[in-house]
Amino acid sequence: MRQRLSVEAYTKGVLSADTIVLSRAITLIESKLKNDKLLAKAVLENILPHTGKSIRVGITGVPGVGKSTFIEALGKHITSQEKKIAVLTIDPSSKKTGGSILADKTRMEDLSRDPLAFIRPSASGLSLGGVARSTRETMLLCEAAGYEVIIIETVGVGQSETLVKGMTDFFLLLMLAGAGDELQGIKKGIMEMADVVAINKADGANKISAELAVTEYQNALHLFPKSDSDFITKVVTCSGLENSGISSLWKLIIEYQDETIRNGYFEKNRQSQNLEWMHDYIRQTLEDQFYENVIIKKALASSERSVKEGNELPVAAAQRLLNIFMQNLLK
Ligand code: GDP
Repeated sequence: MRQRLSVEAYTKGVLSADTIVLSRAITLIESKLKNDKLLAKAVLENILPHTGKSIRVGITGVPGVGKSTFIEALGKHITSQEKKIAVLTIDPSSKKTGGSILADKTRMEDLSRDPLAFIRPSASGLSLGGVARSTRETMLLCEAAGYEVIIIETVGVGQSETLVKGMTDFFLLLMLAGAGDELQGIKKGIMEMADVVAINKADGANKISAELAVTEYQNALHLFPKSDSDFITKVVTCSGLENSGISSLWKLIIEYQDETIRNGYFEKNRQSQNLEWMHDYIRQTLEDQFYENVIIKKALASSERSVKEGNELPVAAAQRLLNIFMQNLLK
């Protein structure tokens, strides 16, 4: 195992924007080892006063929609304004398959060489809940290291969008023209979450169909209930490849931020996200403690067998295990 630094060294390194220490602090946060967890907690407590000052942007879209090309273009636009940007990814595919849709090393090569940019794929081998926790904490570390824009990217294939929506200020959905919604696997619920829908790859022969798609999506969005932010969801076109529509999209994000700060939604949303974070943490910790408990580990296999064979009701087995766990806790 690699040698750990002291709490002070992690704290100092992160606050002075040392990217090597920042990376090592993130590794610490992702670790399942008890000592690492304690160390990570102490580092997080130290850096907490320096967090919260970025704009947190969630970006989703199906594989192939052009996310990495787009984020690279947007990232370079942001760094050209002397702003620091961190790109974090939540990739639900990495656990299931051991592989990953997003962790391809060649992604965002150009941006990764930019000294104002920091790119970090999510750790593999964590549950979705585990990834959510580590991404939130990584976001705090990046904020403490002075990153002013945090992008959280996820593949548009399921639950991970809800997680990303729950930890960001602004949610961008990338879509393609011409491919039906079903084809793109984008559910109505995800469209409903978007603050901006961007029809990507609006270049060359795609340009006209992209414009048509804008009208289509605008009509569809009309039917959705108004968002709590009072910001009316916009539909725009862009091309990551040709770098068009990128600066106006960035302007929209800033406009959204200004408007929601003015009407109080920005703060309100962060407050409710913090509450959600607390409850998630409680749930996650209880669950981890339950499944890591040695007595439960022993009892679980036979309970699973008896439920599978129909000898015990699932609820009865669950209750019995929970009772064992609680009694054990009280000892
Ligand atoms: P991701 O899987 O969503 O991250 O998508 P990528 O950025 O890797 O892009 C998938 C494919 O689409 C690649 O072959 C890109 O070259 C292509 N692509 C990405 N952005 C654009 C774009 O704006 N216009 C066009 N025409 N192709 C693009």
